[in-house]
Amino acid sequence: MAYRSSSQRHAPPSPTQIDLFLEVGRRLDAKGWVAANDGNLSVRESDGTFLVSASGAPKGYLRRDQILRVDSEGKVLSGEGRPSSELGLHLTIYRERPDVSAVVHAHPPVSTAYAVAREPLDACVLPELVLTLGRIPIAPYATPGTPELGASIVDAIRTHDAVLLANHGAVTAGKDLESAYFTMERVEHGARILLYAHLLGRVTPLGTSEVERLLATSGPRAGGPIPCVPADTAVGSDAHRHRETGDEVSVPGTPRVPASLEGADAMDLARVIREVLAERLE
Ligand SMILES: [Zn+2]
Repeated sequence: MAYRSSSQRHAPPSPTQIDLFLEVGRRLDAKGWVAANDGNLSVRESDGTFLVSASGAPKGYLRRDQILRVDSEGKVLSGEGRPSSELGLHLTIYRERPDVSAVVHAHPPVSTAYAVAREPLDACVLPELVLTLGRIPIAPYATPGTPELGASIVDAIRTHDAVLLANHGAVTAGKDLESAYFTMERVEHGARILLYAHLLGRVTPLGTSEVERLLATSGPRAGGPIPCVPADTAVGSDAHRHRETGDEVSVPGTPRVPASLEGADAMDLARVIREVLAERLE
């Protein structure tokens, strides 16, 4: 039984906040990034409560009464129905990121395809993505709608505003709803370009010196560590990281060929042969 407090205890959400909530829901639907009642969004209010979409509500046709107010434990304070089944994912992000006040979760097809292929968007390819998000990691697979989904993204969300969810979708965080939504737009747009480049037969990451020159234009981040994998380090570091961690880290569209076949194990050789043959057959 959901706990409900007096509606007098919390000021009603501002009309602007609600309008933005509804608008982001409509955009997610119009862009085809959610199907039926997929996806969910939330906002952290200044009083420490949260607005979240109701479970089962289609985002393209969200009604005002389907935006619920909940506390930090997920108890419903106002609104009708149950909160989204992914509320735990949202609350985990707010706990890990005090700087974040909005979260958007959707299933954009191209980003989700990369999440299904377990191909993180980590190569330094598009200057805009290098400067804004760096790289976009993939959180390990976890069952949707369970506490495990929140736990699966803890490591990645601490240092990234956008995370792909293995075999599931994407989640983005921002200082407000507009910012979290625009990050989702950036992720899907970047993923689409990388997919097209891959279909054209070549994804060309920027080199270290090109990325350093790019970062030098960005003010506060100038001189910081390179946030993605440049072309000239991609193959070697990828192979090393893959062996050391077992993570599926790779440069999208680039066969994961070891720096040298000398010392490559049977698995490496089998994979290289498979990838070369697959490319020839395309
Ligand atoms: Zn989902």
